[in-house]
Amino acid sequence: MLQIREKVENNMLWKINADTCSLWWDNLSDKGALANFFPDHHHNRHTTVSEYMINGGWDLNKLAIDFEDRMTNIIDNIVIGDLSLEDFILWKPSNDGLYTNLSSFQVNRDKKQEDVSLGSLWHNCIPFKVSFLAWRACLSKLPFNENLSRFAINEDTDCSYCSIATRDSLQHTFIEGEAAKHLWNHFGSPLVIRHTNWPIRRLLKHWRATTTTNSVHKLIVNIVPLAICWEIWRMWTACRYGDQNKFYIRKMEYHISWTINAAITKAFPTCCFSWPWPNLCRDVELWRPKTVHSHVVAAFSKSIQCSSHNIAEAMAAREGIHQCLHLGFRKFQIELDSQIIVNMLKARDTNNLRLKGIILSSVKAMNQANVDVTYCYREANHVADLLAKNAAGSGNSFQYCLMPNFLETLKAHFTWIIGSYQA
Ligand SMILES: [Zn+2]
Repeated sequence: MLQIREKVENNMLWKINADTCSLWWDNLSDKGALANFFPDHHHNRHTTVSEYMINGGWDLNKLAIDFEDRMTNIIDNIVIGDLSLEDFILWKPSNDGLYTNLSSFQVNRDKKQEDVSLGSLWHNCIPFKVSFLAWRACLSKLPFNENLSRFAINEDTDCSYCSIATRDSLQHTFIEGEAAKHLWNHFGSPLVIRHTNWPIRRLLKHWRATTTTNSVHKLIVNIVPLAICWEIWRMWTACRYGDQNKFYIRKMEYHISWTINAAITKAFPTCCFSWPWPNLCRDVELWRPKTVHSHVVAAFSKSIQCSSHNIAEAMAAREGIHQCLHLGFRKFQIELDSQIIVNMLKARDTNNLRLKGIILSSVKAMNQANVDVTYCYREANHVADLLAKNAAGSGNSFQYCLMPNFLETLKAHFTWIIGSYQA
């Protein structure tokens, strides 16, 4: 235990509620234990937090007498919670602050550098299995001949679709085969994306790099290639392992269209585009967010330092609720683009230790009004999207605008207080 003590303690963050923590040995400030910071400082090893607290806060006078300024500043910045609750430990590597063996393993394993291009395969508007398949294809983790032969399984099979017999391979099935070429051209041509026999990873990157005119257009160039790969995979497995003996190209077109339509409807429920595909592409390129005629009361965006998107989302929600109450609203709706936070606010509690404090204080504020919480894809709320990008681009800026100046800036008319935090 002593051998791993240092590793473990650095990942344990103590949250002070009751005052029983050790001031010296517990990691209270997220920077490590004070004893490690100031090894030369003469101190009593058994000092507890309670000795330096007064009326539920830090006793700054006593701290100033006993410690130098730098130490006093660090201690003063440690937040003290609800005194009626017990102290608790937050396990830093996990998302919810609870200890798991998996998160512990992740801390200790040797990690490869993260590949950004693979991260963009995941999208909350399409089923997980579709993204997962694209990820496996990019890493060549699919049971094609070239991979099976590495395990001494030699089943040299030919492609089930092409008129000229061709050996089956990942590159042939997904990119170079007649069926694949047809689908890439069928869905790519109306978007002016020409098909080229590149490796699948480069081809997906090429689609994503296409210049887009609006958020629906962007969504489409992101998900169409994933939908095509998924459909090719479905047909291929049906031929290889099922009783099908050829690719049904019209059926594939139909299924891909269905996946695209479902994703657009999920992300932009108020938009309505008409098929067939070339018409939809034309309309999407010309699409502009609708102007809603009502009033902006206020808007804000903040760039903050926090460890996850969900914390930023929860903080934005809490601030939005407080702003509404402050301005005298007693019945309002809040839209969030994190289903997790929506669920927590609806349930009015969570067992996620990182978010519990923010959620409970939001709920406390919500109890003063009639609040409806709903999920909304961020790009579908044009103003919120603009504010989030603004916060990300402008660093630590803070904006808070009241009518009517903001109307000119946004060139659109919206109701509500619109807020955004960018972590
Ligand atoms: Zn073929």
